[in-house]
Amino acid sequence: MTSRKALNPPRGQCRRCWFHAYASKEAHKGLGPGEDCQACINCAASQHKGQIVT
Ligand SMILES: [Zn+2]
Ligand SMILES: [Zn+2]
Repeated sequence: MTSRKALNPPRGQCRRCWFHAYASKEAHKGLGPGEDCQACINCAASQHKGQIVT
């Protein structure tokens, strides 16, 4: 179940990274132990472009 918190990032936060942090069980369910999330890596690499809550 996705928590409300995961879907409601506060201002200044990255929607995608927030969701991945608070709903990591869902967002990262395809990842094996110690495996990195490509979406999280790409988002950070692009400085969370277009994903920041204003
Ligand atoms: Zn992720
Ligand atoms: Zn991000």
